[in-house]
Amino acid sequence: MSVPLITRFAPSPTGYLHLGHAFSALTAWRRARHDGGRFLLRIEDIDIRRCKAEFETAILEDLAWLGIDWDGDVRRQSEHFADYGAALDRLQAMGVIFPCFCTRADIAREIAAAQSAPHGPDGPLYPGTCRALRPAERQARVTAGVEFALRLDHAKAAAMAGPYRFFEESHGWVDGDPALHGDVVLARKDTPTSYHLAVTVDDHLQETTLVSRGEDLQPATHVHGLLQTLLGYATPRYAHHHLLTDAQGRRYAKRDQALTLRALRDSGATPAEVRRRVGFD
Ligand code: GLU
Repeated sequence: MSVPLITRFAPSPTGYLHLGHAFSALTAWRRARHDGGRFLLRIEDIDIRRCKAEFETAILEDLAWLGIDWDGDVRRQSEHFADYGAALDRLQAMGVIFPCFCTRADIAREIAAAQSAPHGPDGPLYPGTCRALRPAERQARVTAGVEFALRLDHAKAAAMAGPYRFFEESHGWVDGDPALHGDVVLARKDTPTSYHLAVTVDDHLQETTLVSRGEDLQPATHVHGLLQTLLGYATPRYAHHHLLTDAQGRRYAKRDQALTLRALRDSGATPAEVRRRVGFD
């Protein structure tokens, strides 16, 4: 018996949905409906300072306007910090995370002073400053109330996880590269989880079998695969889609106010016209 398809659309309510989101949501939704699967909606609002309730309301309205329906309740990440905390505790018990006391300025200074600074998909990698702190020094700083983030010790994590891979529908199997993003942040004081951790935990808890999302997030899959392996989660399949661009070849972004679904709708566009504009007849 084949595994039922469960996929999702996971926007962050930091602005109105634009044409790029419409394309992404329709891609996942159509796939679920075509394959008799489930289509879930997840609101990725862990950054409570940037996320707004009005944008969340707008997301639900705009998707419904576009003709997209979702199965079950909407999962709002801000209501599930305990789930991410539990996963973090497990990683902590495995000894694969460490507190990092560096400020952004500390990290920039360290990178500028280094002979060579390895880069990842999002820029220079964390130089590892706090990874080697002795336990007594760590404890002293925590006791003194120095703020810290929790980072994944990627080398230790990789050694513990062993080789891992994920299936990318358009390419086949991809070997996981645990070093690609270096020692990523998994939690901060003001945001007790990170995108990487929350997505990994949620896709597991929601039993996602197909992660459909933009190709800008393809490199992040190397971190998600590593976390899935460490935490003993099944690895879903991945379908990273291309990103829609405007007439100038630029990706749609939240700053393009005129191309939000809201603005298009206000200017008289119909859902069918918007769907057609992003390639869905
Ligand atoms: N929340 C992410 C975004 O809005 C998507 C995360 C995902 O699909 O894994 O870009």
